[in-house]
Amino acid sequence: MASFDIYKENSVRIIAGPCSVESFEQLDCVANFLKELGLTWMRGGAFKPRTSPHSFQGLGFEGVDILQNVAHAYKLKTVTEVVDSLHIPYLMKRINCLQVGARNMTNYELLKSLAKQTANTQVPILFKRSMASTIDEWFQTVDYLSEYGNKNIIMCERGICSFEPATRYTLDIAAIPLTKMQTQYPIAVDTSHPAGDAELVPALTKAALAAGADAILIEVHPDPPSAKSDANQQLSFSQFEKLLGELRRICVALDKVLI
Ligand code: PEP
Ligand code: MN
Repeated sequence: MASFDIYKENSVRIIAGPCSVESFEQLDCVANFLKELGLTWMRGGAFKPRTSPHSFQGLGFEGVDILQNVAHAYKLKTVTEVVDSLHIPYLMKRINCLQVGARNMTNYELLKSLAKQTANTQVPILFKRSMASTIDEWFQTVDYLSEYGNKNIIMCERGICSFEPATRYTLDIAAIPLTKMQTQYPIAVDTSHPAGDAELVPALTKAALAAGADAILIEVHPDPPSAKSDANQQLSFSQFEKLLGELRRICVALDKVLI
């Protein structure tokens, strides 16, 4: 199931999809939309790390199966988060890229286990920066993955905690060039989680692209107000389509291909 094409030189990979997989119908609708726009990768959370146990926890394995079936039908590739080392064999057979979420960046045993279990396949790992780590800590910690067997890594900046409450997190744009200067890995930027508000996502995304992002993660939902998680920050289809047009034009100026 391993896929090596999440990163391509001189390209910007757009990985869009809902915060959470909520139903077959919801994901099918998103996949159909992304496919029509010519995109090739889709995100969706099945196991959701939520602050409160009373919040929607994701559909779990059922969500993974929905991702697999819908992605297969539309010939899309998938990213989903891994939260438990016991889930890795199941995920590896069904998903094209495994995400380590911000909350698990410092879960060193999970990182070791993930790297060991994926050493043979080299399935790509999207390694998010913790909201509470410095760039240097993030760069040190990624070595758990490479040292324990998987070097097929894409780093992902997703915003950090700061003293600024106007946004959900503070997107650290400098992390983009620093990743390029100080690591051997490509850099993705999740512009939905730092924004916390769909209105802010386009500007943050354009900034990330201009600063050199190799991939962008964006949450998009057929009906954002009804989303079971992160309703405020998910783009509607029309907001997403408008942004994609702008990103395509920026890519021309950057001499990159949007894929
Ligand atoms: C996500 O991408 O679904 C997610 C939970 O992100 P983060 O780990 O960055 O909060
Ligand atoms: Mn989310």
